[in-house]
Amino acid sequence: MLYFAPGKKRGYNSSEIPVQGKAAYAIIKTGQKGKLRRQKRGNLLAEGEGVLAFEKVVLQTRLLDPRADFALAEIPSEIRFDPLTGASGRVAHFLTRDLPAPDLDSWKQFAAGQFCPFCPENVERVTPQFPPEICPEGRLRRGEALAFPNLSPYDRHSALTVVTRAHFPLPHEFSATQLADAFQLSQDYLGRVLAQEPDLHPLVTWNYLPPAGSSQIHPHLQVFATAAPGNAPLAEWRAEEAYRQAHAADFWSALLEEEKKRGERYLGRLGETEWLIAFRPYGVLGDVLALFPEGVLLPHVPRDLFLTLAAGLERLFRFFRDAHLVSFNLALYQSPRRLRLRFIPRLYLHQAIHTSDINHLQMLLAEPIAMVPPEEMAARIRPYFELA
Ligand SMILES: [Zn+2]
Repeated sequence: MLYFAPGKKRGYNSSEIPVQGKAAYAIIKTGQKGKLRRQKRGNLLAEGEGVLAFEKVVLQTRLLDPRADFALAEIPSEIRFDPLTGASGRVAHFLTRDLPAPDLDSWKQFAAGQFCPFCPENVERVTPQFPPEICPEGRLRRGEALAFPNLSPYDRHSALTVVTRAHFPLPHEFSATQLADAFQLSQDYLGRVLAQEPDLHPLVTWNYLPPAGSSQIHPHLQVFATAAPGNAPLAEWRAEEAYRQAHAADFWSALLEEEKKRGERYLGRLGETEWLIAFRPYGVLGDVLALFPEGVLLPHVPRDLFLTLAAGLERLFRFFRDAHLVSFNLALYQSPRRLRLRFIPRLYLHQAIHTSDINHLQMLLAEPIAMVPPEEMAARIRPYFELA
């Protein structure tokens, strides 16, 4: 069964229903919250009218369930379509709400007595220095943060920013100042590079702890200035520009307005930043998005916005502490008018054997899967944003 025809463009402005075959899926639209209008038969849901839609296909798998004496059961799953790019993703294979506590001892054990290139006693001896045309002083510093070239670069301009002197802080132990300093120092580096090559794309990313792909325990950001910022940011950029041309409006402003109206995935506003959960996430536990004000871009983000970003991360990390989470990926990336953060919790699906939360779906099919509904993640995280 095809949900959409190969090669058929979907996305921000698609008014066509992406279904081939015998109209197997119904279209349900919600003009107003809570009011469903069923058309035809089946179950393609397109919630939202006008220029922005949240489309999903709700599926039921029928089986005889061994957990209930082989009684007939229906197991739900969903296919969702990104409201900007139209790319699909799954919501399925649901996780239990109470995740097991991560095995911190194995990482602590590894940390003790192991050589760490980013610990204060080693970092100046074993990490490289920038060439004089980028940074005559060799490395950049701000508070505890220290930036230097990545010895294994991903691009011509590829640096690391060590976040703290401490080797293994848990996320809720980062201070707002440490986080803001690390982002701001990364921006300082990007500013130096972009002053010479203004056409490059700035990127600040972070893999924290092994479930997120980090090879070092010690917290450090990856900082790039590149002509190739990645397929996902470029797809969003192209779709945003197409949206702007079609509607003479900013997609993210329209998304925020709609999400605030619905309230299902919106988390809250902190200073000048807006926080929400993505309708079609990349990560198994959903993605947190933070939108910066339109027109505020790297490498010119003011200090107070980095402090606001840090304040939002502090709230997420309090949720992390309470939910037994410690690992995450994040990226700060931008299109020509909008900087945003995408933050993805990461975990081992099976703690004892270190089962990755990335499998054939993401690696081979480029099809993300969320194992908790984004609306449920929003409901769990929102209280942390409502606290003063
Ligand atoms: Zn260390």
